Amino acid sequence: MVTSAILLALACVAAGCSHDSPAGGDGLAVNEAQAPNEVAASEGRRPQDGSEFHDREQFHVNGAELTQGGWVRGKAPASAVSASLNGQKLELAGDRRYFFAAFDRDFGSQAMLSATLEDGSSVDYPLTISPRQWQIERVNVAKRGGGSSEAWWKKREPEWNAIVAARAKETGATGWTQDFIWPVKGRISGRFGRQRIYRGEPGSYHSGIDIAPGNGVPFVAPADGVVVLARTGFSLEGGLIIIDHGAGLNSAFLHSSKIAVEEGQTVQQGDYIGNVGATGRATGPHLHWSLKWHDARLDPLLFTGPMN
Ligand SMILES: [Zn+2]
Repeated sequence: MVTSAILLALACVAAGCSHDSPAGGDGLAVNEAQAPNEVAASEGRRPQDGSEFHDREQFHVNGAELTQGGWVRGKAPASAVSASLNGQKLELAGDRRYFFAAFDRDFGSQAMLSATLEDGSSVDYPLTISPRQWQIERVNVAKRGGGSSEAWWKKREPEWNAIVAARAKETGATGWTQDFIWPVKGRISGRFGRQRIYRGEPGSYHSGIDIAPGNGVPFVAPADGVVVLARTGFSLEGGLIIIDHGAGLNSAFLHSSKIAVEEGQTVQQGDYIGNVGATGRATGPHLHWSLKWHDARLDPLLFTGPMN
């Protein structure tokens, strides 16, 4: 009985790993070796009174990119009253069971999904997160100190606050359950995670993906959501749109030449939301698309799969 339950769970994990994995070529390989984890997770649990109970009272992974900048979707134990990933509380949706969690660009190799059950006991589910090879460029110039003056901060501070407030909004959107689509297709001019080291001093890494289909080209919502910010004139971002996809996940679209949505508006995957531009700090027209889950910065490519 126990063995069959484990096999069932294994099949579930393996199936989850089949999501359009852009494995190879870009260091985006997905760790599919979850078998030892699952066996380990099934030990030390509550007294087992049958495989059905065993199956209901554990985590199930329905889809995942178990690598830095990636994500996991699944089902929490049936009687979970709360769940977390490495201490970050998860939202449990739909009969208190479905969750989404994600891994920052610099996430370590071990992640732990934990749930507290109605009877006070807890269930753990370890995940192994594979490291990535980031594009690192060492340059022999000093890091720019720009943007730290008091005058600059005076203009920047309200912008910063507006972005933080927008990203903190909880709208109950369910886009996080979907497979994401590309907001627009075109040449990828900047990848997520790329970083410059200025004479040994690391600059901040590239927080999203840059797509350069040409100036004025329309782009669409990659998943369902609610527009939590849609304004022009940001010093760095230019025309900025932020969409909440629910469960702590949101998208930002920078440098727009035109914004076609309003704050508070509900959008569906594929809806036209704006046009590519070069507003704010941009060297040429492109769409910078970034994804965040709470404070974790994520790689959009791991949500859409490769562009084709
Ligand atoms: Zn960018």
